[in-house]
Amino acid sequence: MLEFLYPREYLASVREVTPEKLRALGIDTLLFDIDNTIVPYWIRTPDEGVKAYFKTLKDGGIKAGVLSNSREERSRDFCAPLGIPYVYRAGKPGIGGFKKLIEKMGSLPQKTALVGDQIFTDVWCANRAGAYSILVKQVSPKDELITAPKRPFEKIVVKMYLRREAKK
Ligand SMILES: [Mg+2]
Repeated sequence: MLEFLYPREYLASVREVTPEKLRALGIDTLLFDIDNTIVPYWIRTPDEGVKAYFKTLKDGGIKAGVLSNSREERSRDFCAPLGIPYVYRAGKPGIGGFKKLIEKMGSLPQKTALVGDQIFTDVWCANRAGAYSILVKQVSPKDELITAPKRPFEKIVVKMYLRREAKK
């Protein structure tokens, strides 16, 4: 019933999304939410560990980009050191920003995965766009004010999703 909100995969961390895994799925493009997906919202720039992770993606032939609902400075400051494209104020779960970004990257929705920590923005957007949706556990329990109220509802959806997965 809530199929459109279910991720294709639910992982503990973005670090589990490897080039090998993506290639096996026929995916060549990986889009990221930033806040609470890669780093907590108050970390403005990528550290060495994050840089190393993005290098493994690049070396593995995966194109990376950022799709963020946040303001421009957020995406710019985070993406510049990584040298990756972004679309800010993406309006997820709307798919306008998604389309703009994959066009910029020369990618196709069916060859794209979108990884994020929120069901109602990231997962829903990916599913609507025809991309492969990956939900990850939030890196910090602290959320921005705009996100916090949605979490109890997300927990219900995740519980239903996990129950269904267990039956498979
Ligand atoms: Mg997020």
